[in-house]
Amino acid sequence: MTEKNYGELRLDNNDASPPIGAALVVKVLKYPHPALTRKAKPLVRVDAELKKTIREMFDLMHQEKGIGLAATQVGLPYRFFIMNLAASIEGMNEEYVFINPAIKKRSGMATLEEGCLSLPDIYAEVRRPDKIVISAFDINGEEFTYELSGLLARAAQHEYDHIDGIVFTDRLDWAGKRAVKGALAELEEEFETDRRLGRIPDDKTIKKELEELESLRT
Ligand code: ZN
Repeated sequence: MTEKNYGELRLDNNDASPPIGAALVVKVLKYPHPALTRKAKPLVRVDAELKKTIREMFDLMHQEKGIGLAATQVGLPYRFFIMNLAASIEGMNEEYVFINPAIKKRSGMATLEEGCLSLPDIYAEVRRPDKIVISAFDINGEEFTYELSGLLARAAQHEYDHIDGIVFTDRLDWAGKRAVKGALAELEEEFETDRRLGRIPDDKTIKKELEELESLRT
């Protein structure tokens, strides 16, 4: 067992790390699941269990052909997201974890169509800065800084929003919101049906599970 301190982020390679909740299998949560609107907290520890879950998140992201996936999308109330930085190059995978990220600089503006694994079949144009400088910790607790532009800057901001409890449809203007209203209502109906069938716990149970996860690593 080794343990190191990198600023606030503690690396714990002890195998007896606290479990990720049994109810939280790695799958992408769909809007309007309450875990998607909860602002995530910074991680203070990275342990074997979390690393295993991050591996599963990468597998899920590749399978779904996503270029980014945030912890909140799989029910983890932690400030981290994963990205495939080679997503714009066909057939290339370059896996990056952004832990406790901070966007240091934003410049330019661009409008591009976005979609989200948590909002299936909804696409809309979103206006965002075109370039960002972002710092974060990697899985080994090393701090890094990237300058991202175009699609990757877009994806990183989309994922960063997720850990703040924001989904891309929140960023649409009045006309854009009106255009997706029907599709969102359909997802809300599906969610209510799943809940009636007992596939999704009630709000109180979800809140308790998220608080337990927070108490273990934040
Ligand atoms: Zn998303």
